[in-house]
Amino acid sequence: MKLPIHRIIPFSNVEGIGNRTSIFVQGCNINCLYCHNSETIPKDFTSVHLFTVEEMIKEIKANMPFIRGITVSGGEPTLYHKFLIDLFNEAHKMGLTCYIDSNGFFDKNQINDLIQVTDKFLFDVKGIGKSLNKLCFSNFLLENLNSVKMKSERFTISQEHISNLKYLLSLNKIEEVRLVYLKGYYNEEKVIEVIANELKNYPDIPLKIIRVHARGLTPSRAKALKGHIPSKLDVEKLNKLAYSKGIQQINYIL
Ligand code: SF4
Repeated sequence: MKLPIHRIIPFSNVEGIGNRTSIFVQGCNINCLYCHNSETIPKDFTSVHLFTVEEMIKEIKANMPFIRGITVSGGEPTLYHKFLIDLFNEAHKMGLTCYIDSNGFFDKNQINDLIQVTDKFLFDVKGIGKSLNKLCFSNFLLENLNSVKMKSERFTISQEHISNLKYLLSLNKIEEVRLVYLKGYYNEEKVIEVIANELKNYPDIPLKIIRVHARGLTPSRAKALKGHIPSKLDVEKLNKLAYSKGIQQINYIL
């Protein structure tokens, strides 16, 4: 079995605690409107490197002793859950921690063995907009979404998605919850309420609010995003709202 790799960043300090090697896999199961790594979405492996576990470990070893761990991002890492179990077991033997940066759309029963060997998840909560859903989600996920229960027509957040967050929180596997803020795209107040409800028993777990921006997006994505880019003031207001709903640790990126 081989892992399709889009790129490896030997040293990163924005993908979890400490200096880490970030590994970006190729292939995602959704298609976010604001995706800045949209070249990682296709499951087309013709132009990417395919690594065995041994080859990955060799890459990681080259960065020691300057890293505390590895973070697998993407794309969506949980698509490769079987490979990652072997990789994480080997990385743990080297004293490294293993994180996953996930969009949260996975079948937790199917990937449970991976969850058990993952130290922490960076978990993206996705507020799902309706009007732009053609661009927001690929047909692949739209098919699945037909069977995914939305909490309400108006604010559209997937219950399965939130149930995955709840499960990881109960296992103490969440390092950080992230929300990319698109103004007027989903009902942000409701989305914040849902997150607050999940974090109320975990006051030390931070929510990171990230102001969406269009820099570096493909022209069609940038066009569709028009009108949904919040001002800095909007982000500060959302931050205050999150505090008022009881979230205690909040970072925001303007
Ligand atoms: S989950 Fe991440 S990689 Fe996948 S489409 Fe969304 S932003 Fe892009």
